[in-house]
Amino acid sequence: MRTTHMFIPTLREDPGEAEVISHRLMLRSGLIRKVAAGIYSYLPLGLRVIRKVEQIIREEMNRIGAQEVLLPALSPAELWKETERWDFYGKELIRLQDRHDRDFCLGPTHEEVVTDLFRREVRSYRQLPLTLYQIQTKFRDEIRPRFGLMRGREFIMKDAYSFDQNEEGSRKNYQSMYEAYHRIFTRTGLQFRAVEADTGLIGGTSSHEFMVLANTGEELIVFDPESSYAANVERAEVVSDMASHPVEPPQPLKKVSTPQAKTVMEVCSVLDTTPDRLVKTMLYRTPDNSLIAVLVRGDHQANEVKIQRHLNIHELTLADTESVQAATNAPTGFAGPIGLHGVKILADYAVGGLSNFIVGANEANMHYVNANRDRDFTIDAIGDFRQAQSGDPSPHSLAKLETARGIEVGHVFMLGTKYSEKMGATYLDSQGTEHFAVMGCYGIGVGRTVAAAIEQNHDDRGITWPIPIAPFHVHLLPVTHSESVQKVTQTLYAELQQANIEVLLDDRDERAGVKFNDADLIGAPYQVIIGDKGLAQGTIDLKERKSGEKTTVLPSELTKHLQEKIFKQGNIS
Ligand code: ATP
Ligand code: MG
Repeated sequence: MRTTHMFIPTLREDPGEAEVISHRLMLRSGLIRKVAAGIYSYLPLGLRVIRKVEQIIREEMNRIGAQEVLLPALSPAELWKETERWDFYGKELIRLQDRHDRDFCLGPTHEEVVTDLFRREVRSYRQLPLTLYQIQTKFRDEIRPRFGLMRGREFIMKDAYSFDQNEEGSRKNYQSMYEAYHRIFTRTGLQFRAVEADTGLIGGTSSHEFMVLANTGEELIVFDPESSYAANVERAEVVSDMASHPVEPPQPLKKVSTPQAKTVMEVCSVLDTTPDRLVKTMLYRTPDNSLIAVLVRGDHQANEVKIQRHLNIHELTLADTESVQAATNAPTGFAGPIGLHGVKILADYAVGGLSNFIVGANEANMHYVNANRDRDFTIDAIGDFRQAQSGDPSPHSLAKLETARGIEVGHVFMLGTKYSEKMGATYLDSQGTEHFAVMGCYGIGVGRTVAAAIEQNHDDRGITWPIPIAPFHVHLLPVTHSESVQKVTQTLYAELQQANIEVLLDDRDERAGVKFNDADLIGAPYQVIIGDKGLAQGTIDLKERKSGEKTTVLPSELTKHLQEKIFKQGNIS
């Protein structure tokens, strides 16, 4: 392609609205443009990258026998009511009505639609296993759409659904998807890690997320440096550490003054102690509008996903100031379990093991010291209600867990019969007995994968694309208008294309500096610089974008040279 024939609106300045590097670079290099919050247009360069990622996904899905379909984005409310997700999905589901006032939604995921297809069409065990996938636009009215394609309200997802006769078959399918995901993210040139994950709104029995490691990631993961164990902190199990503190003989309960001390650090400073001697009382509101209190140690964080799972609810919000005041008769910051009536109290394991600790006194500027459970207040349940953190013991070895940030690019779930039971998706076995199909579902965020790739592959001059997903392999940069430069450029342009190398020719009437800046920004893995000085010696310059390494080559050898680099090292099949 010639730059003059291609719509590549690059920006010199950093766009103010973009908080993360991938978003900034996608805007600056003319890959995307914003239409509204979380809604983007893909411009020619951006679409080329999207299509490359899609193609890798397609090849790997086809390789494991998944079949491509295209389900509608618009789906009728009835299907979602069957699984109760019409209510459960809440505000994230974009709902609309047709001219007959019938309810529809724009699909955020497609379990309902695909299960409906299955129950209508599949009868016999002979038709199983069946795995269908699609690459399609999804809609989710995210609370905080941000970071460009990373968290959009409209975004491209690959979603796949497997149907098997039994658990064993489903597990096998899950495993081959898991391996396909490994190949996909390896081929896209990403550094990633598969981690154990929570099953969230989709539900089901087991799940892994594929995380691209990046400091800007929204997800926090813990991993064991000595085993393969890694998990999302939402999910990471904290081994019961009830015995980690020595049991002390109970001391008399004492109310002490802690003026203005609301935060853990403030209380510790007033009482001259450490956060692990203090218990935080977090008040939450549940969907049935009742309040619950969750006790976690001062140096720990409550984990709302675990609390929700324990209570079997799907929403939990921190109680507002008025509710806290009404329940505790004190301003926020002084809540405690002693004398807290009519509120269910959950305590994290670590709190269960403490004695003589500090809690809020439900009175302004006051705390209790030497609080002890059972003697001073009653706990309704003890469990794993806190976030794993670095230094926690690994559940799989003697090592201590470490933390890292990640971007979730893919998610695989074993669903069991959750959807097939709700929607009556059955098949007949060889004896003619009816069974529910055992399902799995598997998603990849295509745009998010591209954004994650940029987070991992950039420098201060622009993007440094991995070869397999680069919009072009080579950027041809003639730096003058001299006849010899133009002649060599045209020859090479034709030759490279002949050799199936994707080449972008900067044929604009611009200064060399402008061309170099744009080429570095756009980030094709190789730049070929054709100038008079070099040609006087019969050579041109080849620059590898990522390393910045420059070599001098003969024009006649360029194509062969690049073929070697791109098709051999670039892992292109
Ligand atoms: P998140 O926790 O980030 O909201 P999710 O768990 O809701 O993700 P899934 O329902 O598992 O996501 O969707 C499958 C994949 O789709 C995710 O792994 C992610 O790559 C992508 N994805 C999900 N939500 C978005 C979004 N708002 N914008 C872009 N990609 C998304
Ligand atoms: Mg989500």
